[in-house]
Amino acid sequence: MHLSKTFIPTLRETPQDAEIASHRLMLRAGMIRRVSGGIFTFLPLGLRALRQVERIVREEIDRAGAIEVLMPGLQPREIWEQSGRYDLMRDVMFRIHDRQGHDLALGPTHEEVITGLVAHEISSYRQLPCTFYQVQTKYRDEIRPRFGLMRAREFVMKDAYSFDASWDAADGSYQAMYDAYERIFARCGLNVKVVEADSGAMGGQWSHEFMVLADSGEDGLVECNGCTYAANLEKAERARGAPPENSADNGCPSPEKVVTPETTTIEAVSALLDIPAQRLIKTLIYTADIQPVAVLTSGDREINELKLARALGCRELTAADAATVERVTGAPVGYAGPIGLSIPIHADLELRGASDYVCGANQADTHTLHVDIERDVTVTGYADLTNARGGDGCPQCDDGVLQAKRGIEVGHVFKLGTKYSEAFDARYLTAEGEQKPLVMGCYGIGVTRTLQAVIEQHHDANGICWPSSVAPYKVVLLPLNLSHDATRETTERLSAELTAAGWEPLIDDRDERPGVKFKDADLIGYPVRVVISERSLAAGGVEIKARAADKPQTLPLAEAMSQIGEFLS
Ligand code: ATP
Ligand code: MG
Repeated sequence: MHLSKTFIPTLRETPQDAEIASHRLMLRAGMIRRVSGGIFTFLPLGLRALRQVERIVREEIDRAGAIEVLMPGLQPREIWEQSGRYDLMRDVMFRIHDRQGHDLALGPTHEEVITGLVAHEISSYRQLPCTFYQVQTKYRDEIRPRFGLMRAREFVMKDAYSFDASWDAADGSYQAMYDAYERIFARCGLNVKVVEADSGAMGGQWSHEFMVLADSGEDGLVECNGCTYAANLEKAERARGAPPENSADNGCPSPEKVVTPETTTIEAVSALLDIPAQRLIKTLIYTADIQPVAVLTSGDREINELKLARALGCRELTAADAATVERVTGAPVGYAGPIGLSIPIHADLELRGASDYVCGANQADTHTLHVDIERDVTVTGYADLTNARGGDGCPQCDDGVLQAKRGIEVGHVFKLGTKYSEAFDARYLTAEGEQKPLVMGCYGIGVTRTLQAVIEQHHDANGICWPSSVAPYKVVLLPLNLSHDATRETTERLSAELTAAGWEPLIDDRDERPGVKFKDADLIGYPVRVVISERSLAAGGVEIKARAADKPQTLPLAEAMSQIGEFLS
C-alpha cells in the first residue's frame, strides 16, 4: 500500500482535549477522529488495527468452540420488559421510538435477544452445551464518556453467551471462555491481571475481570504480594485480624465534649483538633429498606456500599437525606456520632477495640473526645464494610500484604445462572424427559477499548510501539528519493517480497523531507522501519530498524527479509 493512496492525517500538535497518552496518540497518528462526546470515526489506520484485534478475538473464541452470529443493535422494548431490565437500565440505555410510536432501544448488551432466540431454537439436552458470540456495536449513554475509545457511547464489543444443562456443566463453558480470554490478551501483547469481581445478586465467586494494568486506568484493584489473590475494589476483602483483647479498662479517659464550630468534614475535624483521620470515627446514616441505620468507619476509610448492603441483608440502600440525619441524630449534618443513637449501629471491623477516638457529638458544632467503642457505643455488629487498600492484610494467605493498582477493564466473564432463561422460558428436555431451565454464562470483551489499551501499554515519548500482532502495518518502507531509479526499484522489489511473505508493507511515497517521514514512522509505531536511499544502497543495501531499537543496521536485500522476519516473530 502506498501512503499517498490511503489517508493517514497525522497531527504535529498534542490535541488539547485528550487526557491520556493512548487517546492523544490515536488522534495524532490519524487513527480516529471525534464526532461528538464518546462517538468516533475510525480512519483507515485505526480500522486496520481494530481488524487485527477482531481477528485475534475471532480466532480464539472460535477455537474455544463458540459459534458466531450477528444480532441487531435495534431492539424492541418488549424484550427488555420481559427480563425486567427496561427500567433498571434506564440510565444507560438509549431509547427511541419508530413512526408508529413503538418504543425501541439501542442495545447496550444482548442477553435479552440471545435468550429469546435460544428459547425458540434449543429444546433438547442433545443440543447442549452451546455458546454463541458476536462482534458488534453497543450503545451506552455513559455518564462520563472520556479517554477516547476507553469509555465511549458507541463501541465494539465481543459478547458471548453460553447455555448448559447444569451449573456444573456451565463451569466448563466458563473455563473455556476464561482460557480463551487469557490467550487473546496475551496475543495482543497485553499484560493483564485477572481479578475476582462482584457477581451482584448471584453470590459466589463467578465473575472475573481482565484488567490491563495502567496508571490511567479507571478501575482500582488490589493484588497480594504473597499469593495469587487479586480482586477489584468493589469485591476485595482484607484480612480480618485477631479480635482485640477484651480489656474493660485500657486507660482511655472518659468521653469529653469539645466545641468545633463549622467543622463538618473529616479533614476539617482532623485539622482543628490535630488528630489524624484514622483516629476519627466517621458516622454515616443510611436508609436500608426504609430503616435508618448508622454505619461507622475510621475517618480515612471509604464505605463500600456493596459490602454494606450484603452485611445488612437489605435490597435497597441509600445515603439518608439531611432531614433523616437530623431526625435520628438530633443534629445538623456533619455532627453525627454513635453515642446514644437509638438505631442499629454497624461498624467496620477495623474499629473493633478502637479506643480514644473522636466522633461527632450529635449536637451542632460539637465533637466528642476519648471515645472507647466497646465502652461507650452499642454496636449491633462488626463487618468488613469498607474498600480494601494497599497495605491491608491479604484475606487469602497468612502474611501477604495487598498492593493497590489501577487497571483498565478489557474483559469480563460472568456466570449468570438461570435469571434470563427463566424470564424467557428457555428450557430444554433432559434425557429423562424433564423440562429444565438452561444455565447461562455471559462474556464480554471491549474490542475498541482493548485496541486503545494496547497503545496505553505500548508507547514511548515519540509515539506508539505496536506489538506486531496488532500493528496496522508491520513494516514501513521509507524511500528517501523516489526519483532515484535504484531506490524506486529496490523499494518495489522489497515490497513485493514482503507482501508475498504476508507482511504487506506501507510505502511512504509522500514528497516530504526525510525528517517528517521518520517522525511519522515513530509516531505511528510500525514495528519495523526500512529506509532505502542512495546512501544505503551505496553501503550495500537497506537500513533496517525495529521500533524499539536505538540504531539501524544496513543489510543486503536477501538478509533484510530474514531480519524483518526475526523482528516480527
Ligand atoms: P465498565 O465497568 O467499564 O463500565 P461494564 O461492567 O459496564 O464496564 P460489561 O457490561 O461487562 O462492562 O461489558 C463488557 C466489556 O465491554 C467491558 O469489560 C469493557 O471492556 C467494555 N466496555 C463496557 N463499557 C464500555 C464503554 N463505555 N466504552 C468502551 N468499552 C466498554
Ligand atoms: Mg459500564
